[in-house]
Amino acid sequence: MPIQVLPADIAAKIAAGEVIERPASVVKELIENAIDAGARTIRLEVEAGGKRLVKITDDGRGIAANEVPLAFARHATSKLSTIEDLFQVKTLGFRGEALASIAAVSRLTFITRPEQQVAGTLIRLEGGAQQTLAPTGAPVGTGVTVENLFFNVPARLKFLKADATETGHIHRVVSHYAMAFPEIGFSLRSNGRQIFQTDGSGKLYDVLVTLWNLDTAKQLVPVSGRTESGLTVDGFAGNPGLHRGRRDQIIFFVNRRWIQDRALGQAVAQAYHTFLPVGRNPVAVLNIQLDPAEVDVNVHPTKAEVKFKDPRAVFAAVQRPVRQAVLQESPLVRPAQPWATGPSPQAARFGLDMQRPLPTETAFERQETPAADDQRMPPMRVVGQIQQMYVIAEGPDGLYLVDQHAAHERILYEQMMARQAQAAVAGQRLLSPALLELSPAQAALLEAEQDTLRAVGFEIEPFGGRSYRLLALPRILGHTDPVAAFLGVLEEMLEGAVPLARQTHEKIAVIVCKRAAVKGGQTLSQEEMKELIYSLEKCRNPRTCPHGRPTMLHMSAYQLAREFGRH
Ligand code: ADP
Ligand code: MG
Repeated sequence: MPIQVLPADIAAKIAAGEVIERPASVVKELIENAIDAGARTIRLEVEAGGKRLVKITDDGRGIAANEVPLAFARHATSKLSTIEDLFQVKTLGFRGEALASIAAVSRLTFITRPEQQVAGTLIRLEGGAQQTLAPTGAPVGTGVTVENLFFNVPARLKFLKADATETGHIHRVVSHYAMAFPEIGFSLRSNGRQIFQTDGSGKLYDVLVTLWNLDTAKQLVPVSGRTESGLTVDGFAGNPGLHRGRRDQIIFFVNRRWIQDRALGQAVAQAYHTFLPVGRNPVAVLNIQLDPAEVDVNVHPTKAEVKFKDPRAVFAAVQRPVRQAVLQESPLVRPAQPWATGPSPQAARFGLDMQRPLPTETAFERQETPAADDQRMPPMRVVGQIQQMYVIAEGPDGLYLVDQHAAHERILYEQMMARQAQAAVAGQRLLSPALLELSPAQAALLEAEQDTLRAVGFEIEPFGGRSYRLLALPRILGHTDPVAAFLGVLEEMLEGAVPLARQTHEKIAVIVCKRAAVKGGQTLSQEEMKELIYSLEKCRNPRTCPHGRPTMLHMSAYQLAREFGRH
């Protein structure tokens, strides 16, 4: 084929493809225009997943009659005029491509009226070609109707998914704008049915209640942070009891533009470190505000990804307040209460120290403030044990299956950390010191970590060369072979056996508690189970073991009823 310049209509369709991939892209571009036009309410209606119809109505400032045709010219925009403006973008749109692109691949009707004009203007285009341009009666604002998207690009049409899938994409787009602009009332109808409507109250929380329901919203914690350079992070994050299989409910806005950013997702996920079951993801909606000059939004055709000048600073700025919020809202022990009515052999088996009322509220107050009542694990009634591994319990909202080993690990871990905070960990002295001969690696580790080992209750003294004497070990390991326990802990430390690496003293605590915790395969008496559940209720973070695995599975009364077909 000889080289030839593409005919204008083909070139337009190709260019449109960059911006308009599916009905949800149309929705996105039109919403952005309405927001940029200062709308207070934005109403959307779609039919057949937006393939047959996308209709949007706004009450923004409209376009003057003489400028209407120009709005459909490629690279026509009222939002930028110099190249410098590009580095200070404050509006959502700026390329002047959207209307031209949408018009090129659909049948589009656009009616608009600014307040100063008595009449509005109607323009109709089909496949980019202008059909009608006429004055018309119209309310202030703009209404855009996009019909039969891709009617002239069959290849594109074929790639669209089922209506329900496309509606899902649209729903997501509209939801995100509703979150980013709580002061704007959004409504979405699909095939004549109201999907949601936000009230424009200006409160993100209200929007989340509408989009996610009240139960979920109740589990959200406000997040707010500010750096010295003036970057702010605001929004909500879920308490550790709220988690999802997928990551798509970690939502970011940068200067109110929805963006996707893997590293920031990571920053939030890490803030929940040890609080969530492995493989589960937190929920968060965060708006990052920073100087527009600190971020380039012009790196992606749909502006879905942005480039920060200083990505590390943004990472830290996001992680810090989220972590703070998570720590503050984690379940906390109840006000100082005895662990049980009195010492008992069962308690001894669980390593519960009855003499010392532990951990008292004041011990925690320095780091964390008490959470609301509904953050705690509910009081539970023990029903029984199965497979010598799981405790069945009933709570106010359904059934709980508790992994006895994981639960006990959690209990021991929190007790140990609380005692460390009070410098109250006491080792249990051996009747006669045990002599150890360590490998060079073990000896090196021991030398390096002597203080941290002591902090959990190991007491060791050098005995010449690589020989050492073990004088005491953590009380909770009192029932085990001391030498095996100590060498086991050293080995696990050498292997880096704690995957969620933290500070060394926490790491050692995790290893020790794992060894000390009651194993699967042990039959528990009713009293022991009660003790276990009671102590678990007192944990700050009862739902996961220190390794991040769940301690319990919950089946709500609702789920039970549904599974039994009672709903
Ligand atoms: P951009 O948003 O990048 O400027 P568009 O093609 O989306 O480009 O829109 C072109 C211009 O049309 C905008 O700059 C704006 O001036 C005007 N416009 C588009 N939609 C609206 C609307 N809903 N209300 C008022 N003006 C609008
Ligand atoms: Mg635009």
